[in-house]
Amino acid sequence: MKVGIIGAGHNGLVCAFYLAKQGHKVSIFEKRSEVGGLCLSEELFPGFKVSTVASYFGMLRSEVSNDMELEKFGLETYLTDPIEVVMLPNNHFVFTPREEGSPAMAVGTLSESELAGWKAFWSDLGKAATLIYPLYFQPQTTQNQVVEILNTAGLDKVAKNIFSGSLFDLLHEYVQNPSLLAAAATCTPGFANKKGSVFGCIHHGTAKTKDEFGAWGFVKGGMGEITQAMKRSCQAQGVQIFTEKSINKVLLNDNKASGLQFADGQEESFDLVVSNTDPFTLFQKLLPEKEQPTIEQPTVSAGKVHFALSALPPFTLLDQIKHNYKGVIVSAPSIDHVIADSELVPQGKMPQGIMLTMCFPSTADETAAPAGKQLLTVDIHYLPATLEGQPWNEKNKQVILDAVLTRLKELSPDFESYVLASHVVSPGDIENMFSVRHAACWHLPMTADYTFEKRLAYATSYENLYLCGASTYPGGNVTGANGFNCAQTIVKQTSGKLPTAGARQ
Ligand SMILES: Cc1cc2nc3c(=O)[nH]c(=O)nc-3n(C[C@H](O)[C@H](O)[C@H](O)COP(=O)(O)OP(=O)(O)OC[C@H]3O[C@@H](n4cnc5c(N)ncnc54)[C@H](O)[C@@H]3O)c2cc1C
Repeated sequence: MKVGIIGAGHNGLVCAFYLAKQGHKVSIFEKRSEVGGLCLSEELFPGFKVSTVASYFGMLRSEVSNDMELEKFGLETYLTDPIEVVMLPNNHFVFTPREEGSPAMAVGTLSESELAGWKAFWSDLGKAATLIYPLYFQPQTTQNQVVEILNTAGLDKVAKNIFSGSLFDLLHEYVQNPSLLAAAATCTPGFANKKGSVFGCIHHGTAKTKDEFGAWGFVKGGMGEITQAMKRSCQAQGVQIFTEKSINKVLLNDNKASGLQFADGQEESFDLVVSNTDPFTLFQKLLPEKEQPTIEQPTVSAGKVHFALSALPPFTLLDQIKHNYKGVIVSAPSIDHVIADSELVPQGKMPQGIMLTMCFPSTADETAAPAGKQLLTVDIHYLPATLEGQPWNEKNKQVILDAVLTRLKELSPDFESYVLASHVVSPGDIENMFSVRHAACWHLPMTADYTFEKRLAYATSYENLYLCGASTYPGGNVTGANGFNCAQTIVKQTSGKLPTAGARQ
């Protein structure tokens, strides 16, 4: 069977690998000059290796990584000690070392029972993540089944709130301390006061690095090393990868995908087409207008600012607690700001309490920056998909840099004197440079409206046309589960028609 895949994001590469392993003749067509999609490393500043969009490792399913032999093909991951520090308003903080022992914290008044509640909260979420992890390879799972699994395991508080409540609703069952609530609010991709944020937190809890469940880590050389290793693994299976080859249209024969048209107008026939693009690109750009799945246009996106630095800029709080600048460093707004911003940002406004997740990869990876220099990567959790109704452009993206610098100067008063260069990735860049329509992070929101049976299916309403990107089950992040499940679905749905791997040899 001749298969054409649109896009070489990590899910397109994973899907290609499994289909090629079954003996199919697979070609991938990527619009950009290199594979990876949102999972890439670039030399944004001379001599620096920057994870331009996705920065943190852990969500990649070890099953996929092992099957693709990614370590053999060059992938090297590592953990840091400490794991994380969350810097909170009023000089409060929660510091989590990797070594055994309780997190160090300064969070105001905290009773013994609240401290026990905080530990119980994370313990319950960890148990829920362990139960949910295997479901990522079972795309028929429904939200009701998940609730039942959690209830059976005695995780009734989590079960009650996972799809119907918010992370704040759940937290209130364990702790009331506002600094702890604000710290936990940084652990979910959605706003912690909104429905779906509990699942978001558990989703992140399914991370695994170096066989440590729940652990987030890093990739030596940046996240692009994952997709570079995937590319080599695919090529070893005979997958043909074409870059700078943009797809204009999916060719149809009645209701059946029959091939692809490239940007230069040339066409090629395929028995089966798989799209790694976001669903808006596939259904609104590459296919004729027709009855399509109803998907809401996202209003909330995210962004990044990368800084090339002459040395490590001193952060007042980090120095106070003798931090080594390794691991994840979070700047959390108050819960009042989270609640206010959950209304403002969807209306196109900049957040009032900007939430930042940062790391200095160069403190642990000598390939990240030239000797003596440092790299700081900053994620801005919530940005409006368009600014006051206007698309993001080179001029208005300055507000992102200004907002990030304002916060960084509060944390590190001399910060600016260390900056050699900066690079902003705005929601507009996610749309224009990475071809994700409407700057839809995770291709679709990770809310209760779009998880489990409500996420998109791999098979589309067109025969022989499949979707394998982050908009499909189980959702976003660099998991590879979507690409794997899509390949499995294709093999199951077309078996009988397809030659097996053995038959082709
Ligand atoms: C700001 C931000 C930070 C993030 N941070 C993290 C993180 O730290 N860790 C993590 O695990 N996840 C993170 N994520 C999420 C993660 O990056 C994505 O969910 C994941 O990379 C999506 O992979 P994918 O293969 O499904 O799609 P994509 O990576 O979007 O790949 C789609 C591919 O299709 C190509 N394409 C599109 N249109 C065409 C066309 N017409 N012709 C040919 N090719 C086309 C694109 O160029 C792209 O290569 C982050 C996301 C964002 C936006």
